Amino acid sequence: MSDTQTRLFDLTGRNGLVLGIANEHSIATGCARAFAAQGATLGVTYLNDKAKPHVAAVAESLPCAFLLPCDVQKPGELEAVFDEVKARWGKLDFLLHAIAFAPAADLHGRVIDSSSEGFAKAMDVSCHSFLSAARLAEPLMTGGGTLLAVTYQGSERVVPHYNLMGPVKAALESAVRYAAAELGPKGIRVHAMSPGPIATRAASGIEKFDELLDTAARQAPEHRLATIEDCGALAAFLVSDGAKMLTGTFIPIDGGQHLLA
Ligand code: NAD
Repeated sequence: MSDTQTRLFDLTGRNGLVLGIANEHSIATGCARAFAAQGATLGVTYLNDKAKPHVAAVAESLPCAFLLPCDVQKPGELEAVFDEVKARWGKLDFLLHAIAFAPAADLHGRVIDSSSEGFAKAMDVSCHSFLSAARLAEPLMTGGGTLLAVTYQGSERVVPHYNLMGPVKAALESAVRYAAAELGPKGIRVHAMSPGPIATRAASGIEKFDELLDTAARQAPEHRLATIEDCGALAAFLVSDGAKMLTGTFIPIDGGQHLLA
């Protein structure tokens, strides 16, 4: 076997930016751990001072080169993170965007009742920030790279209580398609992973989330729920050379629940 074949999934010497760790239960945490296990060095961000100790506790267990604040709605914070990437590494190999937010008042009502402000905020944080991150990553991915977003099947089908996040995730998926087409010529690949329900902080904002978990476990042919480790395994594969012919994919991590009507 050639050296290239044995190192297909190896991330040694690769630098990745992980946006979206809130705590040890975050999907981004599972991904960061998987990237690290394959040898990558990471930069990690936290939302605000309240979140910092929880994110720092995760970052301590990683090969983490820097930990910076990043509220994508605060002017300059996302840019400052990429300035650090440029100063420290001079390039970026991959980026995970695992960020979502919708104001509770809008998330908990009918989609048709959502406010213009709430809709715009959810779109800005959960979708447009992915495009901003892609734009900032582009000049740093000189040797190609991979951008990952995290979506949910509530984008395509009406999932009870997912509400406003449905159209927002649909927009995110469309953004992934356009970014994949626009950045493909530069060797930058773009994907969205689509996990089934996982009990995280963001998920706790969705009403009756327990019912979503029960339904997923019942419907999925494997009859088990996705974990953040399952997400990490796919993420590490997608950013590796083993996936270099793939771009613009939407991969369910749900034990097959998406197959069921
Ligand atoms: P989480 O609460 O652990 O992570 C959400 C992250 O979004 C947090 O780190 C939070 O700080 C960040 N965030 C929110 N507003 C932000 C802002 N203004 N600026 C920067 N960061 C901000 O929850 P999670 O479930 O791990 O969510 C990660 C991603 O996975 C989200 O895109 C979510 O929609 C998606 N997802 C989750 C599930 C699930 O069931 N948990 C399923 C499918 C997709």
